[in-house]
Amino acid sequence: MCIPIRSLIRQFQFISNSMEDTKTTSLCHICYRHCVAERVTKEDGIFLNKTCPVHGESSYLIETDKDFYKQLGYDQSGYSIPQGIMVEVTDKCNLNCPHCYHGPDNKTIDKPIEQILWQIENRFDANAGAVILAGAEPTVRKDLPELIQRTKVLLKELKRPEDVCILTNGVKLSDRKWTKMIAEAGTNMVMIGMNHHSYQGEKVHKKQLQAIENCIAEGIFVYYVGYTLEHIDHMEEVLEEIQSLGNRAWQYRIRAGSDIGRSPDEPQFFLSDHVKLIKSICDKKGWTWEKKPADDNLYHYMVNINGITHRIIQWSDPKTIDMEQLKCGPWCDFVPGKPVTNFLHQIMLRDGHVNKGQPLYDTVPPQYLFKPENIDYEVSEWTWKSWEESKQKQSSIV
Ligand code: SF4
Repeated sequence: MCIPIRSLIRQFQFISNSMEDTKTTSLCHICYRHCVAERVTKEDGIFLNKTCPVHGESSYLIETDKDFYKQLGYDQSGYSIPQGIMVEVTDKCNLNCPHCYHGPDNKTIDKPIEQILWQIENRFDANAGAVILAGAEPTVRKDLPELIQRTKVLLKELKRPEDVCILTNGVKLSDRKWTKMIAEAGTNMVMIGMNHHSYQGEKVHKKQLQAIENCIAEGIFVYYVGYTLEHIDHMEEVLEEIQSLGNRAWQYRIRAGSDIGRSPDEPQFFLSDHVKLIKSICDKKGWTWEKKPADDNLYHYMVNINGITHRIIQWSDPKTIDMEQLKCGPWCDFVPGKPVTNFLHQIMLRDGHVNKGQPLYDTVPPQYLFKPENIDYEVSEWTWKSWEESKQKQSSIV
């Protein structure tokens, strides 16, 4: 039986309801070994103290605002962390973003469809949720429609949810005929990554905006539109664009770059910095700000602005990663020879191993691995209602 995409599940039992100093696990940013760590509140902020067995002790500031940190909490009644399984289907990309965590290589040869299907079948199980085809940029694969079709067939055979999502920069989806083709192949959801309009130039930006319209017109649910900021002073225009897009996505995401993959040398931002900046812009413009019960953690903060859901994000990096905050999906199989773990953890390991050529000396502590038996399928009333409402609103737009 097909479970609808709204069964993309939430998982809450791992995450404490409020933020407290705790022992945790981090990475050594030099050798990428997993190492013991502790979150510690001090006078000037929250620090992550850690000890690598080879490279010794280190300490990093992870949040400057102690009051903000303490009020971050997970509310079981309110929101869902999307689960889903992510598989890289290509290392190629048609853009060249300065803040890319992946680091595309257009000289590589795409892995065969059979290998991707093997990963989906053998590295995850039915409890993991929708299949998210990721890259670099999945739409550059010429055989993507075939891959989507065969993924659907496999999911049907395995009696799993037949949900196939594409994580994309949207450029290719500006072609309505092509969007129709992948919709007919079985794509039922997209996640579109964007930037401020000056980031890639107006031409690319217009294509990405057109992609949103095309997806909705072809019945593909726009799960989120995410913005990666090049400069913090782009925030206001990005927020204005989100207001103009309104109901075209279930959720909008905003984040600045962090030190994973390509990362120009920029000042470090903390989640509280983003939240305060966005709140000040909302106040100036007279926009409503409604904090919703959410799956907030050190890296995510959810708020409705004028009724539109915003997920404000600031990722950690290998110096500041706190694995206790990453016992949730989306679950990824990005690192050759390593088990399936959370997305943020995977992109760091992949960056160290694939991009920087760093050997990976240890495995992942078991408490952070994907364990289907630990996933809770309860879907809150709020989430069901919210997804249904969003789909209806999207279909009424085009
Ligand atoms: S961020 Fe995405 S769109 Fe940009 S270069 Fe990387 S893979 Fe391509």
